[in-house]
Amino acid sequence: MRTRGKGKIGYILQAINIIPLIAFGILILLLGTHWFTRAMHSEVEQDLRNVSASLSNMLDALHPGDFKLVGDVAYRLYKGEDDLTGRYALIDRIKENTGLDITLFYQDTRVLTTIKDNEGQRIVGSGAPETVIKDVLEGGESRFYTNTVIYGVSYFSYYTPLYNRDGSVVGILFVGKPSANVEAAVRSSVYPLIYTDIILIAIVSLFTFIYTRKFVSCLLQIHEFLREVSTGNMNASLDDKILKRPDELGEIAVSALNMQRSLRTLVDRDALTSLSNRRSGDIRLRKVIEECSAQNAPFCVAIGDIDFFKKVNDTYGHECGDQVLKEISALLRQHMRQKGFVARWGGEEFLLVFSHIDLDTSYDLLNKLLEEIRKKRVHYNEADIRVTMTFGVTPGNSHDIKELLRNADEKLYEGKSSGRDCVVK
Ligand code: GH3
Ligand code: MG
Ligand code: MG
Repeated sequence: MRTRGKGKIGYILQAINIIPLIAFGILILLLGTHWFTRAMHSEVEQDLRNVSASLSNMLDALHPGDFKLVGDVAYRLYKGEDDLTGRYALIDRIKENTGLDITLFYQDTRVLTTIKDNEGQRIVGSGAPETVIKDVLEGGESRFYTNTVIYGVSYFSYYTPLYNRDGSVVGILFVGKPSANVEAAVRSSVYPLIYTDIILIAIVSLFTFIYTRKFVSCLLQIHEFLREVSTGNMNASLDDKILKRPDELGEIAVSALNMQRSLRTLVDRDALTSLSNRRSGDIRLRKVIEECSAQNAPFCVAIGDIDFFKKVNDTYGHECGDQVLKEISALLRQHMRQKGFVARWGGEEFLLVFSHIDLDTSYDLLNKLLEEIRKKRVHYNEADIRVTMTFGVTPGNSHDIKELLRNADEKLYEGKSSGRDCVVK
């Protein structure tokens, strides 16, 4: 059977399955990334706040007292009695353990810091960003920023004001984490999500693709079958796998096959007697000729006609005539079983073909059949109707159907002329 491409339905089915799936996947990815990023930011903020609070407490505990600048030319920063200038040990230690940068501003000027410039010099003496001065130093509030650029490096930063005991803001404490570190952490959480997402979409798409292909292939085969039947091919067949499908497609396939059977019956069978009609009888006779010639086997062709059938109609009515035709047909069919076939050739005329049987045997078989016909009674209303038939039979010594039928017809005519109710060979 001719097969075609995937067909429009295939593309539509795949599109309506896969497009929402991909859209859903992208949505999950965007929401997931957003959620991870937010969660990571708030975790960083929490970390920075904790470190900032600890450091602030540590400074108070180690160096009780207020911050103050001492000196006239080279200022030094004191806290209480201790000179903090140049004492980097504590903040360097924290940086080493946590990876966080720390800066202590006196007012808006860096005094202690772990941040170094390109030459490796600590950037002490430089100023705080404008917004930080405004928000933290002047506003007196702690602030978290997600993008503070210090000497070309982007930071997540937490700035908190430093107080003296009288409550005045004297400086700022900065704790920061390079954004690159945070982004790497976000990436390491989001990438597995992306991979899982892509793999899931790929798997579901693959299943959809396979199922749709199968589905559409069945659909196309059923279509092809119906197309063949519509052009008159009553021998077109359908794959058993489709017929056995436990879904609607399987049911459609079975209905299509049944439709073909019904059509075949309509086309090949005679409606009144259910025997093969003339068209189908002709095809079957050709087949017998082919088969027997190929095997060098004998065959015979006979034509039988009911005697004085007109009388039956005239006496008992047409309906009774039909009943007689039906019952005689059943008898003929039963008799021809395993011997060949019988077809209704026209009105009350029948074609009988004996396959693989020679003339003498055919002649004897026809005589036996005639004996049964003579014994047969067709009950109609109160009447018991008897009929006889005349047969003309000829051996299959030609491949020409017309000639064979003409010979059989001539013998039949002989029978009719010589008193009917007989077989002539
Ligand atoms: P013969 O012995 O010479 O064959 O005589 P006959 O009366 O059988 O032959 P004839 O050809 O004169 O008549 C055949 C009749 O068969 C005429 C027709 O009305 C009848 N007939 C043909 N087909 C049908 C049918 O389907 N049903 C009925 N009831 N009658 C039919
Ligand atoms: Mg007749
Ligand atoms: Mg006739």
